[in-house]
Amino acid sequence: MNCPRCGLPEELCVCDEMTKEGQRIRVRSDKRRYGKVVTIIDGFKDVDVDKIAKDLKKRLACGGTSKNDKIELQGDHTHKMKDILIEMGFSGNMIDIA
Ligand SMILES: [Zn+2]
Repeated sequence: MNCPRCGLPEELCVCDEMTKEGQRIRVRSDKRRYGKVVTIIDGFKDVDVDKIAKDLKKRLACGGTSKNDKIELQGDHTHKMKDILIEMGFSGNMIDIA
């Protein structure tokens, strides 16, 4: 199957990688009721946020949700998030850790 954006076969297409590299992603943690901490990652554009959330939950072995362009993970994972996002193809200088 060819990519609908560049017309190249899927194995040659780099659209997803290019899209990922151009994202400015914000990572922060937030304290919820009863002292529960969540990690919020947002700023995603034109990528499959559900798929990224699934991947993150698997890598971190935690629960979480995704909605629109925002991922919420249970627990504070801000210190690990940059390395993981880079591994997933996002570029390090586009990741803001609060
Ligand atoms: Zn493409």
